[in-house]
Amino acid sequence: MTFAALWRELEPFGRDQGTGGYRRYSWTPADAECRAWFTRQAENLGLTVEQDRNGNLWAWWGSRRSGAIVTGSHLDSVPDGGGYDGALGVVSALAAVEQLKARDFYPERAVAIAVFTEEEGARFRVACLGSRLITGAIEPASARGLRDDDGVTLAAAMTAAGRDPSLLGPDEDLLARIGAFVELHVEQGRALAPMGAAIGVAMSIWPHGRWRFDFAGRADHAGTARLADRNDPMLPYASTVLAARRLAGERGAVATFGKVIAEPGGANGVNSAVRSWLDARAADEETLAETAAAIRSAAADAAAEHGVTFEASRESYTPLVRFDEGLRDRITGVLGAAGITAPVLPTAAGHDAGFLAARVPTAMLFVRNPTGVSHSPAEHADLADCEAGVHALALVLEDLAGRP
Ligand SMILES: [Zn+2]
Repeated sequence: MTFAALWRELEPFGRDQGTGGYRRYSWTPADAECRAWFTRQAENLGLTVEQDRNGNLWAWWGSRRSGAIVTGSHLDSVPDGGGYDGALGVVSALAAVEQLKARDFYPERAVAIAVFTEEEGARFRVACLGSRLITGAIEPASARGLRDDDGVTLAAAMTAAGRDPSLLGPDEDLLARIGAFVELHVEQGRALAPMGAAIGVAMSIWPHGRWRFDFAGRADHAGTARLADRNDPMLPYASTVLAARRLAGERGAVATFGKVIAEPGGANGVNSAVRSWLDARAADEETLAETAAAIRSAAADAAAEHGVTFEASRESYTPLVRFDEGLRDRITGVLGAAGITAPVLPTAAGHDAGFLAARVPTAMLFVRNPTGVSHSPAEHADLADCEAGVHALALVLEDLAGRP
């Protein structure tokens, strides 16, 4: 099937009719549909699909036990996410393998397409969970105990989906089979459009952290409680949101409160608690640490001012990732020889490639996003650019897997 035909098939799974956004959360029925679809498509291409101990899918072409060239991405989404984040890398991988098979390419090294689980952390709050587990970047016991908003643990969700969570953990055998990992991804941000380039190559990933900010006050009546007598946690929360914007801006970093839960959340009451999540990223780890510390201290000050208690805890942290320079140069060389100019760019978005990079030579290809909008139903890539991405990925796989 062509890229466009594959895309049309995958498109409806997990799409919310009201918002047009995707809700493909791991270990839910929408996720199961995506996995079943991928398995079917990979098997149609003659690939052998396996599920690893951490729930990631691997579709193998060729059986060599080492030096495999792996591509792929993820199929889960953020709440009301766009259709391209993750899915573009998986669909492009299927289409690229199909192109290589159509031209009778024989892989001297095995080629595999990986689909990583819970990349977005939308359900269990730890991003890149599947690749963290494989590489030992998270303790299996703490992964098993992660809870979603309904209190369901990852272990329970996996069990309900027919998986054995006791198997979770580092997968050295699998890592030993990988010679290189190349993830294709829709661009998140808008660097390629002004350069007139359809394809980019990643240089690095900004360090990235998520913190939970809890403000606890006292529930009260919105009509009868005098303003001066209130301990309203919404006030320091609101002031922290504004402070985060200013403090990040001053440091060239980014900071976002994207999730907030007000408790008990009545429209006619002062809340007893506000739970919120800060996502912060910066070009280097020192700037990120400074930014997060400054936001924490602004929150503590605001809480004290309103008679509210404040606690912060770090839920996840991903250090700066530098991709393999040799692999990157080889890829830009292959693309250049085919007349494709692919600028080298840093990115502020996290990816499974960032975790794989700690263990195996890793690279990323980006496909132009004309508006730069991502994690939104408005996320888009033009079909011609997606096809250019498939072409570029096929060239790269052909080069990397074509030599023993
Ligand atoms: Zn992604």
